[in-house]
Amino acid sequence: MASVLMSKSIQIAGGGIAGLTAAIQLKKYGFDPIVFEKELQIGGSRHGDYEGLENWIFSQHAPVFMKDSGFNFKAITTHPIHRFLVHTQNYQPLLIQSNNPFFYMVKRGSNIDDLDNQLYRQCVDQDVQFKLGEKAPKNCHIHATGTQKAAAYIQGINFSTGLKDQIHLLLGHKYAPKGYAYLIIIGGQGTLAAAFKKPKFFNIDYLKNTQKYFNAKGIQIRNGKQFASRGSFSLPFLAWKPPFEIGEAGGFQDYLFGFGIRMSMMSGRAAALSVIGEKTEARTILIQLNQKRKISFINRILYERLNDYQMGVLAKKLYESSNPLSILSSAYDWNFKNMLRWINMSHRYEIRPT
Ligand SMILES: Cc1cc2nc3c(=O)[nH]c(=O)nc-3n(C[C@H](O)[C@H](O)[C@H](O)COP(=O)(O)OP(=O)(O)OC[C@H]3O[C@@H](n4cnc5c(N)ncnc54)[C@H](O)[C@@H]3O)c2cc1C
Repeated sequence: MASVLMSKSIQIAGGGIAGLTAAIQLKKYGFDPIVFEKELQIGGSRHGDYEGLENWIFSQHAPVFMKDSGFNFKAITTHPIHRFLVHTQNYQPLLIQSNNPFFYMVKRGSNIDDLDNQLYRQCVDQDVQFKLGEKAPKNCHIHATGTQKAAAYIQGINFSTGLKDQIHLLLGHKYAPKGYAYLIIIGGQGTLAAAFKKPKFFNIDYLKNTQKYFNAKGIQIRNGKQFASRGSFSLPFLAWKPPFEIGEAGGFQDYLFGFGIRMSMMSGRAAALSVIGEKTEARTILIQLNQKRKISFINRILYERLNDYQMGVLAKKLYESSNPLSILSSAYDWNFKNMLRWINMSHRYEIRPT
């Protein structure tokens, strides 16, 4: 197995989930990864909000996926979600449900039950070296430093509550233009957020609109801590060479809904495989990732054309289906129709200069 990099010591910039995955994979293959994280704690740049490990873009179920990524799924705190309510402008809230989970909810941050912290501890158990509170040197082999160029925005509030567990998706341009808003309550912890495409004007408080909507439904959000974040998406086809850019630093994210956990981890694995010289396996993962990124971009263009009423019709289709998870999965199929759409639309993709 010839390595593309001669040294066994591999420097990784950024200790997010992409960097941690690359590190644990490299360790598995006998390399000595060193992860530089500018925050004092892994997960320190996250907000303690709930995020969903979606279960439909890729065929592997989350537990198998985590194992392939190098982590023990059982040591991670996850909450499988089989049902959620969708609020639209033209129907009463619609309950969408499935036998298999739509998501595994995880909390992001540096606390003991947060995903980032739990992946970090698994890395430490495997003797991965960390330099916490240190900015990475310029010449790192792998760059996993997160969002580079913002294309989507998220405003949110984390709060404590006595309300029972519940998940809501809220669609409508008043709450999240070209995006979506959501409310997640699990185990007395809640996240309310609006995720939207860069708006023309920043003077509308979408989060406040979202909060008002749920207040009117009797869900009071008090004493919350606000957060704001950004997301980046790109398709750097031609640039897969050292230093490898992974996770959001490489634009590895679902363009439709901003799901980036799996893509970040898969790109971390692809970088590790490239470093150890397993180019074919790395390429297989990258092809899969790029197909999903292209489809997610097509889906985004189609989604942006919808008005509030049409979004409601789409939600109704999921509500009426006996298997809504399969509808979501099929929206990510790389088939002839999507290939043709890609040919017509690819020029509109934001391709980051390398
Ligand atoms: C509010 C929000 C909600 C989201 N919801 C979902 C969801 O529900 N499902 C989903 O799949 N995805 C979701 N995403 C996307 C997902 O969180 C990201 O795609 C994913 O975490 C990216 O991982 P990463 O490792 O690339 O980057 P990050 O997690 O951002 O990690 C990058 C790390 O690099 C460090 N760093 C940066 N620069 C340097 C430097 N110079 N030196 C050293 N360290 C550095 C940072 O401190 C940080 O720890 C959401 C994102 C946000 C912001």
